[in-house]
Amino acid sequence: MKGTTLEDTVSCSNLKSATPSSLRPRRSILRLPLDRINWITSSFLIGTLALTLTGVPFYLYHFGLDWFQVGLFLVMFFACGFSVSLGYHRLFSHIAFRASWPIRLFTLIFGAAAFENSVLMWASEHRRHHKHVDHDDDPYNISKGFFHAHIGWLLFKLHPDHPFDNVPDLQRDKLVCWQHRYVQWIAVLVSFGLPPILGYLWDGWPGALGAFLIAGVARIVVLQHCTFLINSACHTIGRQPYSTRCSARDSLFLAFFTFGEGYHNYHHEFQHDYRNGVKPWQVDPTKWIIWTLSKLRLTRDLRRVPKEKIESAEQENRERGSNNRSA
Ligand SMILES: [Zn+2]
Ligand SMILES: [Zn+2]
Repeated sequence: MKGTTLEDTVSCSNLKSATPSSLRPRRSILRLPLDRINWITSSFLIGTLALTLTGVPFYLYHFGLDWFQVGLFLVMFFACGFSVSLGYHRLFSHIAFRASWPIRLFTLIFGAAAFENSVLMWASEHRRHHKHVDHDDDPYNISKGFFHAHIGWLLFKLHPDHPFDNVPDLQRDKLVCWQHRYVQWIAVLVSFGLPPILGYLWDGWPGALGAFLIAGVARIVVLQHCTFLINSACHTIGRQPYSTRCSARDSLFLAFFTFGEGYHNYHHEFQHDYRNGVKPWQVDPTKWIIWTLSKLRLTRDLRRVPKEKIESAEQENRERGSNNRSA
């Protein structure tokens, strides 16, 4: 699963025309491609982290914490987080189900507020991740290391921008195109405008400042790193019950931090299933919400891999494992 920030929509024509060898970055003594820093995205990611680590303790020291600030943080965190997992990922990237326009609009607005770029860019990169997983054309290729898959691919621009050649279906969606056009305005208004207004109404200027720092800035940082964990930790930690063809893994522990996306081995094997945690006991709140919305007729055409096919994948994977051990 992907996550990008503001500036990635800017095209880079000089990189597009460059040869692959000229794209190879020079490395500094820190072994970082410092000549390829993605300045706007890096400044945003590092700046919001720095403000969270300094501004939030400063605010708490001077004003304390009340239930309103905690509640607003949680509402924004879950609204934006489920918009990414349910909307950006399972609905738009994988078309694992269909959704009515209020659900699409909600996830486009609050997904934008996660500062992970437009759904068009996000889905394009994510479909490329599934197609080329663990190889060079995978934007967050784990074989380049945990740091690269987690955040390095955003801090440094190592690849030319690709055209949106793998999302023609989304380009026909008027709401998706509207979001792509105004994503930065939506993100700023919802993330940095809405919480301070609500905070001001609750407790004047101190309330506005707290809401800006906690439900705005800190919430963005926490949520982004939850998303980034799917690209890094979900390709590193856990079991591989369905396939060892790629690095993706299943982890209950990571499912708690990723709205249920922690069952990543299943997801890479059966990416069009609206469920990631396919077993009844697995923690996949995004699946539960999609199912509940279907009962309210707000989602439909939920795609499920037949049980027999899932069991046969598990069986074949077990046999491959035992053959490899005995070889
Ligand atoms: Zn996916
Ligand atoms: Zn993956």
